[in-house]
Amino acid sequence: MTTHRTWLIDVKDLRLVSIRCGQCQTRVVVDVASEKAGARAGTGQIMPLECPSCRTAFDSAVKYLNRWQEVYAALKGIAGVQIEVQLPELG
Ligand SMILES: [Zn+2]
Repeated sequence: MTTHRTWLIDVKDLRLVSIRCGQCQTRVVVDVASEKAGARAGTGQIMPLECPSCRTAFDSAVKYLNRWQEVYAALKGIAGVQIEVQLPELG
């Protein structure tokens, strides 16, 4: 039986969102706490819809990551709001 270790992470610590390009492996990291991220290309989108390196389109569902910026802004200052992560114990 696999045992799991539980981590409780404050929402305010979940400000970095990333996506890796399946084609060239470039990883794009976005800081959702940055106002500049919200102004990307004047679209209000924080996540690019294509890889900035090879221009391969990301899965269209990536657009939903843009909503994380709203969730982050709304919840980051509320004490006690945490995400619980369970990872299997190694070994
Ligand atoms: Zn790429």
